[in-house]
Parts: sequence; structure tokens; C-alpha cells
Amino acid sequence: MMTRAHLDLSGLAQDAGPSPSGRVSTMAAALIGSEILRIAGEIRALKASGRPICDLTVGDFASSQFPIPEKLAAGIHAALEHGETNYPPSSGIAPLREAVARLYERDLGLRYPVESVLIAGGARPIIYCIFRTLCDPGDRIVYPVPSWNNNHYTHMVGGVGVPIVCGPADHFLPTRRMLEGKLAGARLLCLNTPLNPSGTVMGRDVLLGICEMVMAENEARQRSGERPLYLMYDHIYWMLRFGDTEHFTPPELIPEITRYTVFVDGISKGFAATGLRVGWGIGPVDVISRMSAVLGHIGAWAPRPEQVATVGLLDDPEAIRAYHSVLLGQLQLRLDKLHAGMQAMKGRGLPVDSIPPMGAIYLTARIHPFGDRLRTNDDVRRYVLEEAGIGLVPFQAFGSTEDEGWFRMSVGAASVAEIEAALPRLEEALRRLG
Ligand code: PMP
Repeated sequence: MMTRAHLDLSGLAQDAGPSPSGRVSTMAAALIGSEILRIAGEIRALKASGRPICDLTVGDFASSQFPIPEKLAAGIHAALEHGETNYPPSSGIAPLREAVARLYERDLGLRYPVESVLIAGGARPIIYCIFRTLCDPGDRIVYPVPSWNNNHYTHMVGGVGVPIVCGPADHFLPTRRMLEGKLAGARLLCLNTPLNPSGTVMGRDVLLGICEMVMAENEARQRSGERPLYLMYDHIYWMLRFGDTEHFTPPELIPEITRYTVFVDGISKGFAATGLRVGWGIGPVDVISRMSAVLGHIGAWAPRPEQVATVGLLDDPEAIRAYHSVLLGQLQLRLDKLHAGMQAMKGRGLPVDSIPPMGAIYLTARIHPFGDRLRTNDDVRRYVLEEAGIGLVPFQAFGSTEDEGWFRMSVGAASVAEIEAALPRLEEALRRLG
């Protein structure tokens, strides 16, 4: 047998040459990487130095504190043992598409045909397929800010982003009034509730107002022959709500909007299963079948054992209820502690505030000790990380442009003890600013 010479290619592989940007597409060169991952890198470095850090940055769950449902774990093991290791159909295995349709009928009161359900490797490929399938280069894509990643998906398909700036008075959610005049000529409106990053939830009347606008716009377009406006309804956190907070869907308010609505959903958040990669989209059959063709070429399917196991979970409402009673209790405990701590500091005259948590795994916090020393949100973020050992994500990471001191606090990876220890550190750090 011929022995190959050993070539060390590390130098060549790492050398982008004299004009690095010309080596990739214009789109890829200009794509902005995740701000959150950059901050996470800083936090890892601080942690490695042995400092106590309360990491409220990652939109994920620590599995030590928030394990996946046992039924899901057991189902994956069993599916592997049964040799479920080959290509799934590119729309997802039929039993899972049927189980998702049953879930929507049982829990949301929406009966869709199984052809309306597309399974993918998490919610991201579904979002990408929605943008890819519905939008052409130059199409206007309307999304509220702060919101998660709509700006990046818009960039990837060459769309023209129409950001709608939302503020604390509306819990950082868009309203009909804010969308007035923005939907004309638009191809896609992106909504997300419960909202990443704010943890706030859109009420029935606000959603109805927006849906009425979408319908009025589409009725006018039908008369004029213009292409329709679609609604991407990302409700991946819908199972995570606190107290008596209710969740509504566009089709239950106006059934005819079904023709223009594509849901984004999956097990990542509702079952603390971000690493398992099972998501789904639900929408009009013609759009879903084209999305399936796009997904088929990307091959971003959900792994087959996870698909098989998810069927068993979704078909067991009792297991889901039991799991959620623990998960929601643990999330709410952490969010309530943070909110109460922030409100107590505010009561003691410190420049902080927070919005009561309603859903998801996030608290909207305001920390605004602005002055000569700290001028921007990023200054505050760095100060709070270095002086109080707390990792936060500024709303700028979600497309906001204002430096008003708004941050996302995510509790999926923080223990109650870490939160309790962090609050006094924050207070001391803020007092040191004088
Ligand atoms: N939508 C929203 C609003 C999210 O916050 C996330 C994850 N951060 C996703 C979709 C993507 O979920 P997945 O991990 O299933 O791709």
C-alpha cells in the first residue's frame, strides 16, 4: 500500500489572502454573525478566570436544570435501537406530521390537513424556507424591532427590511397603529409572540387589529391583481406562558387569514430541546409544498430518531402537562425573582426597571446608569459583566438602534441561587457609579 505524504495545510487553510471579502458571495461577506455568540465568548473567558458569573445571555436551557421530557429521551433511544437511522421523507415522517396536526386541533382548536405540516431540523430551516419560498430579491419584509434574526433572514434573501420600532409603552410589541402605511407593497410581515427578546405576549385585540390590516391589504390586492402579503407567525414559545396569559393565533381570529399565514413552531423551547432539532411549519398547502422542495435540497431535516420520539410525546397530553407544570414553575420562579429584584432596586432609587414576565424564558430589563462613564448600552453591558458578573444581551442584538438601556435577561441557563447571588452584585456595582 502506498503511504501518503503528510501535508500540513493549516497555514494555507487559514490564510484568506490579500482580498478576503472577494472570496465569498456579497451576501455572505455582509452577513452579520450572531452578536449573542460574541458576548457568550467574552463570558466564557471571564468564567475561565474563576469569577462567579450569572449568565443571562443564551436563549437556551442548561440541561442540568431543564432536562428534556423523559418520554422524548426514551423515545430517541428506542428509535435508534429499532434502526430508525435513514433519510426521513423531506416533509417529515407521516406520523409526526399527523401528530402535529392533532396537537394543533387539540390545543389550539385549528384543524389543518396533514399536507399543511412541514417538519424540519428546528424552527430555523422553516424560517429560512418561508423567506426563500415567498420572497424575491427586492421584496419588502416588515418586522418589528426588537425581534430575533428577521434582519438576517431578510439579508440572506436580498429583501428590503422595513423595521417597525416598538417601545416599552407597548411591551415592545407592534400594534396596528405602528403598521399603518407600512404594509403597502410588502411581501411578508413577521410576527413573534411570546416575543424573543422581551418575554411579552401579544393580546387578542392587538393581534386582531393587525390581522384585519393584513386581510384588508390582501382584499385590495386581489382586486388589483397584486401578489399577496404573507404573515409569518412565529409562536415557538407558545407553550411557555405564565399566570393567566393567553395565546391567540391569526386563524382563530379571522379564519380566511389561513390562506396567508405560515406558522413557525417546534420542540426547541416548549420542551427545552434546542439540541434535538425538531421544528415545523404549518400553512397553506401550496406554499408548504414549495417550502418542502426548498428544504429537500438543503437537507435540513429533523433527525429521524427525534422525529419518531416526538410523535410519542405530542400524542401524550398528560405527559406534556406534567412536564410543563415543572418547567413553567421553574422558569417563572427565576423570572419573578429577577423582576422582583429589579423592582426593589428601582424602589431604592437605582436607574433600573423591568417589564412583568408573561412568557418565553426572558425578562425585559432596563439598566440606564448613563453619564460620562457609561454612554451606550454596550458600555453598560460590559460594566455589568465586569463589575457585577452578570451577562446580558442589549436589545441592539435584536435590531434596536436606541441606547436607552434595554436588555434581555434569559433564565434558561441560570440557577435560582445564581440569580439570588447576582442581584446584590448588580446593586453594589450600580451604587459604585455614584
Ligand atoms: N424563533 C424564535 C423567536 C427564536 O427565539 C428561536 C431560537 N432562538 C427560533 C425561532 C429558532 O428555533 P430553533 O432552535 O428550533 O431553530
